[in-house]
Amino acid sequence: MRSRQDKGQPHPKPRTDGEDGPSAGPSPSPAPNAPRFEDVFSVEEIQRFQDAFAEAANVASLITDPSGRPITRPSNFTTLCRDVIRATPRGRANCRRSDAILGRATETGPTIANCESAGLIDGATCIFFDGRHIATWLIGQVVDASVDLEAVMAYAKEIGADEEAFREALARVPRMSRERFGKICQALHRFANLLSDMALTNHRQSELIVALRQAQEVVKVRDRNLADIIDFLPDPTFVVDGDGAVVFWNRAMEKLTGVAAEDMLGKADFAYGLPFYGYATPLLIDYARGAVKRPDDRYAVAELTEDAVIAEVTVAALPGGPRHVWAKAVALRDGSGRIAGGIEAIRDVTDRHLADMALRESEEKFRRIVETAGEGVWVLDASWRTTFVNRRLADMLGYAPGEMLGIAFDDFVSRESTQAARRQMDGLRRGASEVQEIRLRRKDREEIWTLVSTSPLYDATGEAQGALAMVTDITERKKTEEALANHRQRLEAEVEERTSDLRLQALELAEANIRLSELDRMKSVFLSTVSHELRTPLTSILGFAKLIGRDFTDQFLPLTVDNPALAAKGRRIADNLSVVFGEAERLTRLINDVLDLSRIESGNMSWRNERFSPAAVVSKAARSIEGILEQRPEVAFDVRVAPDIPDLYMDPDQLIQVVSNLLQNAVKFTRAGTVRLEACGHGETVRIAVADTGIGIPLEELDSIFDKFHQVGRSDTVQEVAKGTGLGLAICRQIVRHYGGRIWAESLLGGGSVFTVELPAAKETDTQSPS
Ligand code: ADP
Repeated sequence: MRSRQDKGQPHPKPRTDGEDGPSAGPSPSPAPNAPRFEDVFSVEEIQRFQDAFAEAANVASLITDPSGRPITRPSNFTTLCRDVIRATPRGRANCRRSDAILGRATETGPTIANCESAGLIDGATCIFFDGRHIATWLIGQVVDASVDLEAVMAYAKEIGADEEAFREALARVPRMSRERFGKICQALHRFANLLSDMALTNHRQSELIVALRQAQEVVKVRDRNLADIIDFLPDPTFVVDGDGAVVFWNRAMEKLTGVAAEDMLGKADFAYGLPFYGYATPLLIDYARGAVKRPDDRYAVAELTEDAVIAEVTVAALPGGPRHVWAKAVALRDGSGRIAGGIEAIRDVTDRHLADMALRESEEKFRRIVETAGEGVWVLDASWRTTFVNRRLADMLGYAPGEMLGIAFDDFVSRESTQAARRQMDGLRRGASEVQEIRLRRKDREEIWTLVSTSPLYDATGEAQGALAMVTDITERKKTEEALANHRQRLEAEVEERTSDLRLQALELAEANIRLSELDRMKSVFLSTVSHELRTPLTSILGFAKLIGRDFTDQFLPLTVDNPALAAKGRRIADNLSVVFGEAERLTRLINDVLDLSRIESGNMSWRNERFSPAAVVSKAARSIEGILEQRPEVAFDVRVAPDIPDLYMDPDQLIQVVSNLLQNAVKFTRAGTVRLEACGHGETVRIAVADTGIGIPLEELDSIFDKFHQVGRSDTVQEVAKGTGLGLAICRQIVRHYGGRIWAESLLGGGSVFTVELPAAKETDTQSPS
């Protein structure tokens, strides 16, 4: 039978007039804290039983509380009691009195009493809760079979009821023997005892259920709090139950794995391995909860106990790409200590891991550098005691590396270097780096020279930790330096000696230079004097030649009119005279040119520049050698002047001098053959070339022939014929260079030469000179 709370039954309806049957008298109320009947029983179920029982036993029935208030609805009530007897005041009062007697709590057995109406019998039994009266079960409204109905009718009169109605109703009241009624009461009593037992049990059960519900509520709240706490954890965390099914999957975990809690909760069979590795696989949690014997080999395990494991591992399948994670998993146990699941927290430590790896790599690198360094490495603590030396330093000082540990730096310093070592330590104390040459003592007492470079070491808080020293063995260098110093001294003495010699020579050279300058000045004076002296007789020659020519033409030639042979001779004389005159003129110009050369070189030349077309000037130059060519019929002369040569802007006489000079040379050095003069425009320049088929010039002298007084040494006869001064080409080069042009020679020994002059064409702005 279930409790009221269990079924959620409503309280029975309050008693209403006319519904009361055998009502309970003033009986003590249930003790405080005793539950009500309806709190421990389902009134509806009791009602159904009461209805069935009343009908089966053919009695009326009702359950009231100890105060007589009905708990159930009346069952099987007779019209006699309900509508006839209780319709009269006396009948009602009698009924109440009878009920009160019946409602007295007795545990020993049912109470059976005659009703005030004499012929009717009622019975009752009480229901107790832990000895406390909580309800009275009333039955009755039957007529004692042994009673004479007429006697009962007397009661109708007594209470003043309608006798007819009374009789009629009485006829319908069930009749049974007192004995049978007694048995029914006994049966009810036993059932009531059962209910009394059940009341206690039900009450305890309902208390348990309440407690259970409360406990469940607490658990629910705790679960909720736990879920909130796990969600709140900054580390990705998940929890599985004893079957390995996921029961918590916090937000940080969702973020790390990209898998929502709702997709993971309830999943078992290592499904939580999927986001990390791409396939379902046990994680650390499965070791912690005993689902696997030992963590997989991929884990770098840091701590391992029966219930817990801490490890690091690189996982490849997370949405952010491969990550290195730290994980801790712990078994969760139930109240009896049995493993009921596990919890695992994960931390992304990729950055730290990478930094660790980089640090390890760099430490390894530095360790290797230090170990293989060519220099000694020495680490000292704050009291300058050795804490580390590399192999190189140990070798340098003849120790095994371990032997030097703990020994103070001072103990290795030779007496000679005490001061330098002190300076070094003072510098370190000031926080300065120091470099000192220090003589150190080896284990075998031999001493070596070293260069010790120290810098202070600090810890992370900036506290002085000692020093790092780099030590270089400079013994050999010191020896070399000593040898060098000696050598230098010797050298310096020698140099001093040589220097005084050189000073003497320099003085002599300076004097020679002064003498040369003087000679140069004298040469110039000489040149101008000689030139002047040459010009005076030349002027006479010119004057007389002119006079003779005129007299000869005017006075002698007319006399030869009748003598043709004489006339012809006369004309030749006149021609020759003009040649003498012309050559004298050219000689005069040549002398002038010598002076010009010295003027050009000294910068005193005056250039009579003008704009002109080179064709006419070149032809004029060509004509200047006609006299010579006449005497050299074996040399053909060919002049080719292009029609469209650009203008030149220069002194035309200088150009004539250059071209006629080249032509004279060409004729002079050509026994037989051709001399060709060509002039043409060439881009922004004018090119004038004099080519001959003469003796040619050796390749190695093609440049030097432009030097002053340079003549190609020859043993042939041409040299005899063509004696010159060696100045012509030098003048040509000076003139051409003055105008920004160039001159060069190409030649094939024995096959002729080509001299080319290139001069810049006149620019727009170069105009006719005023002269
Ligand atoms: P000079 O002709 O008066 O000796 P130059 O300065 O004009 O002086 O010439 C220098 C030398 O260059 C000449 O002595 C000659 O040896 C050589 N030379 C010049 N022009 C020619 C040429 N066309 N063929 C061969 N040799 C030449």
